[in-house]
Amino acid sequence: MRALCSAGAGIGHDSAMATTEPIAPRGRPRPRVVVVGAGFGGLNAALGLIGSGAEVTVVDRDNYHGFWPLLYQVATAGLAPEDIAHPIRSIFAGRPDVTVRHAAVTGIDLERRVVAVDRGDPLEYDYLVLAPGSATADFDIPGVAEHAFALKTLADAVHLRNHVLECFERADAQPEKVPGLLTVVLVGGGPTGVEMAGALAELIGTNLALDFPHLEVSDARVVLVEALDHLLGGFSRASQEEALRVLRTKGVEVLLEAPLAEVRADGVLLADGRAVVASTVVWTAGVRANPLAELLPGDRARNGTVPVGADLSLPGRPEVFVVGDMALVDGGEGRPLPQLAQVAIQGGRHVARVIRSRLAGAPAPAFRYHNHGIMATIGRRAAVAELPGRIALRGTVGWLAWLVVHLVFLIGFRNRVVVLVNWAWNYITWDRASRVIMVDRQ
Ligand SMILES: Cc1cc2nc3c(=O)[nH]c(=O)nc-3n(C[C@H](O)[C@H](O)[C@H](O)COP(=O)(O)OP(=O)(O)OC[C@H]3O[C@@H](n4cnc5c(N)ncnc54)[C@H](O)[C@@H]3O)c2cc1C
Repeated sequence: MRALCSAGAGIGHDSAMATTEPIAPRGRPRPRVVVVGAGFGGLNAALGLIGSGAEVTVVDRDNYHGFWPLLYQVATAGLAPEDIAHPIRSIFAGRPDVTVRHAAVTGIDLERRVVAVDRGDPLEYDYLVLAPGSATADFDIPGVAEHAFALKTLADAVHLRNHVLECFERADAQPEKVPGLLTVVLVGGGPTGVEMAGALAELIGTNLALDFPHLEVSDARVVLVEALDHLLGGFSRASQEEALRVLRTKGVEVLLEAPLAEVRADGVLLADGRAVVASTVVWTAGVRANPLAELLPGDRARNGTVPVGADLSLPGRPEVFVVGDMALVDGGEGRPLPQLAQVAIQGGRHVARVIRSRLAGAPAPAFRYHNHGIMATIGRRAAVAELPGRIALRGTVGWLAWLVVHLVFLIGFRNRVVVLVNWAWNYITWDRASRVIMVDRQ
């Protein structure tokens, strides 16, 4: 569950709902659909269009689909990068009606219906599905961009893992203590911050304590900084308190009501004047729409998301759809749906249904989000899960539910098996096996 900036723009336009007219393919026997982004939203849109009669082109700046809910496990040496990524081409292998283009989208011409890319020919479309996800928002806090580690991509996770392990190697190699070298500050008490904090405490307390027998590993600190008076915004009070209790049991220092003033090269400064000296600061606090949103006409919310109609199309542009983290979708009572994987998955599937209906000249239903609940793990055998019907799971049961859900939604049979084996190995041996510093010496 991610925190949303409150929506500054109106949401819930339904002007496009009545549109059933198929968009005429221009000079081609089959309509062309371009899907931007092969994340949760785009992938499900493209999969839903297989066999629809349309020529589908999926364009992504990376050649893989990333499973971001497990990204923190790569950053904390629990999993390898390949375990949570799946090559896009292999997902569509043997599907002649889907073309994959490995390129970054750089422009969108809505009048000419053309998408500009940084390599190869521009992509013409009859229907466009925009699902490029989100980017980090630093809320203009000084130093975040310069000094904090982000956690949005596989490269971010590997970079962070390298850095934390390097800090331990440096501390081991020099006799005099460097203040803050073994301190990690996590900014943001949402699910990513909480999950990272629990996993880091376990990595340090078990594996690194054994790996570095000559180091005072008990000097290492994991500090979680949150501006509000609770962790896990959007969860129930009971889950928030459970997360706080478990993290403190694991030795994580949780600072609540501690807004950040600045990130510096040597740590963080809090708004109340307190400073925490740290060689590693991780920013998990803010999310905004992908910058491609700025290329679209019309309103935007404060977090940059694009308001869409009831069928998820852009107001006044029935052939253009926005799904996932970049869309501002009315979740009822004027509240936007959160930036969650399920919202993107269901949005992508819905848009595929709408395009199929349009191609058949039939009316398409409005998008309805089915809430499957929210969950966050706090470490080994500790998680909070809140499911529909007021079902709350905690401790080992919550953790098992978390494991099953993440395995089910992970793309690729190989990835599921590898992750399951890794988790079983980690559970039995306490060994977070991916403690590898990957250095590019080219
Ligand atoms: C660390 C982390 C942990 C998370 N944990 C959870 C969780 O536990 N539960 C949950 O429900 N949600 C979680 N989320 C949120 C969830 O991952 C997002 O809501 C979801 O990924 C949104 O789907 P999307 O399709 O909009 O974007 P994404 O899945 O991010 O996909 C966007 C795709 O677009 C591509 N792209 C971006 N820009 C361009 C461009 N210019 N040109 C071409 N391609 C481009 C990207 O490479 C990417 O493949 C987490 C997110 C992060 C970062």
